[in-house]
Amino acid sequence: MILVLDPGMEEKQQQELCLKLQKKGFYTRLVNQYGRLLLSIDGPGEEDCARELEGSKGVLEVIPGRHSYYLASRRCHRKNSQVRVGRSGNTEVVFGGDAAVVIGGPCAVESEEGALSLAHKIKDSGCHVFRGMIFKPRSSPYSFQGLGRAGLSILDKIKKETGLLILTEVRDPLEAELVADHADIIQVGTRNMSNFQLLRHLGQIQRPVLLKRGMGSSIEELLCAAEYLLAHGNADVILCERGIRTFEHFTRFSLDIGAVPAIKQLSHLPIIVDPSHASGRSSLVEPLALAALAAGADGLMLEVHAQPEAAFSDGAQSINPDEFNRFLERAHKVAAAVGRQLI
Ligand code: PEP
Ligand code: MN
Repeated sequence: MILVLDPGMEEKQQQELCLKLQKKGFYTRLVNQYGRLLLSIDGPGEEDCARELEGSKGVLEVIPGRHSYYLASRRCHRKNSQVRVGRSGNTEVVFGGDAAVVIGGPCAVESEEGALSLAHKIKDSGCHVFRGMIFKPRSSPYSFQGLGRAGLSILDKIKKETGLLILTEVRDPLEAELVADHADIIQVGTRNMSNFQLLRHLGQIQRPVLLKRGMGSSIEELLCAAEYLLAHGNADVILCERGIRTFEHFTRFSLDIGAVPAIKQLSHLPIIVDPSHASGRSSLVEPLALAALAAGADGLMLEVHAQPEAAFSDGAQSINPDEFNRFLERAHKVAAAVGRQLI
């Protein structure tokens, strides 16, 4: 059960309340986020206990037990949250604002020369965020695992030379601090959405997180994963629909376009769409991306490679810089048609 406490409740009172409940055998946890003070109570009889506390001094609301997340919900935060990335004065973008943000770049950073030259093309196309993974979570241990630490200086160079914001992935808590010093957005990939230890850790790092939906996870599970980040202190969470596993094999995954408006109803967090991993086919990337934009996505993330046929990973779903530019032209038109902008 989750209790919403008066944020003005004195710390001594909070501790006394926790102690009282712990003595009754409950597990308690206090969470402070969005100016809300929450107390979760866990253990047999928690519902009766919460009901008893309802209306008592300092207890503003009892959230019914079926609610597995609260901070990520519209109930907690009615207005759309905006996640600001970058620093004013330098490049800065806002996810969850009026404009949809486009993120482009290769599946993996393969070499300094290749990544830098591609980053310049992404920049010239008018985009502000470069994606490039150096730690790759691969299904097979024999597949290219990324350049690792050696890739960090390449990301730095891209940022310095182009001014683009950098998005890259972290696979485990040990990599988190290291990457946070070099990235503007930390990605948690589909295979790690339920890595709660990683989420707890990233909750404590002050860097925006792009949280991708687990390929076998429900919308509720995605929002619960976001709740881990929020409850552990990080309010800068961007969600990403990237396709889920279904019986359909023509596409690599099935893009759950309905998840976009559904998440908009359930949550205040920005949600972007990755049509590249969803489709697994470069020919399907553009129509899916345009559909996502029309459905209200706060951004799009596309895999772009100078020579998709020679890519170390995910070449089949990567588009080349010319295709990316042509896509952007059409995307601007779709954005305008639905009263939005694209940056
Ligand atoms: C990626 O974005 O590079 C990636 C591996 O995506 P996902 O985790 O969605 O498969
Ligand atoms: Mn990829």
